[in-house]
Amino acid sequence: MEKHYKSIEEILPPPSFHMVGDGFRVHNFFPSQPKIGQTGMNPFFLLDYGSKWLVPPSDTPKGVGVHPHRGFETVTIAYHGKVAHHDSAGNSGVISEGDVQWMTAGAGVLHKEFHEVEFSRKGGIFQMVQIWVNLPAKNKMSPAKYQAIGNKDMTKVLLDDGKSIVELIAGEYNGMKGPAFTFSPVNLFNAKLIKGAKARFSFNKNYNTGMLVIEGEVRINNSKTGPENHFILFGHDGEDIIIEAIEKSVILVLSGEPIHEPIASYGPFVMNTEAEIKQAYEDYNNGKFGYLED
Ligand code: MN
Repeated sequence: MEKHYKSIEEILPPPSFHMVGDGFRVHNFFPSQPKIGQTGMNPFFLLDYGSKWLVPPSDTPKGVGVHPHRGFETVTIAYHGKVAHHDSAGNSGVISEGDVQWMTAGAGVLHKEFHEVEFSRKGGIFQMVQIWVNLPAKNKMSPAKYQAIGNKDMTKVLLDDGKSIVELIAGEYNGMKGPAFTFSPVNLFNAKLIKGAKARFSFNKNYNTGMLVIEGEVRINNSKTGPENHFILFGHDGEDIIIEAIEKSVILVLSGEPIHEPIASYGPFVMNTEAEIKQAYEDYNNGKFGYLED
């Protein structure tokens, strides 16, 4: 059977890092990198990758203080270390190693994100991803909510080698479904592969598709190599992807149907028009996002 592989458009090395607050050291693959920009991975609007680093012990947890969001969802995936969050609706929780927090900011929420107290006290290896998933215009003002997706809640699909797995956070793989509710078609998986493992994926041609090499190194479509901490951006000329683990690897797989609507974004807001951005700032300044103590 002839295979129509998706072409590899770019293999992007991690851009230089910046700090989000004083606790999150992140490489922004998009929207800041022009090869992807605001629309190259639409409906995914932002990808901040906290590559592995050693957090020194601190009695005062580091992180990012109270800030608002509106118009999209934040998806936080913890690979190493722990994050504690609190929000203006009274929700709080800890995102531990292997877990995902899927927060629908929707109409608006104030929250803060810090290293969890015990993790902070001891220090340790920290590795995390935060993705912003855009919302269709009709859902941008839906009520804020959380989906706490523990590692045990994820659908695990065992691969042919009997050891490698594809963990489903959202979307569908080989007829199995991930636990997250999404407002538009989104696939989000972790492929955890032993050395030599092969994983096959198939996504609609029109979907925007990328992979982040969290750990290890993979060969893609029997051709190019995706090294650790690199982001692979795929084209729209085929459906299939095959990755082969050159060593033990963890790959974050993203694929989603683009939302064909205008994007107006500023700081923590992603809307459709400049007027809606202005309104978001007005509402924020007038206390309409609620209250959260520093
Ligand atoms: Mn935030």
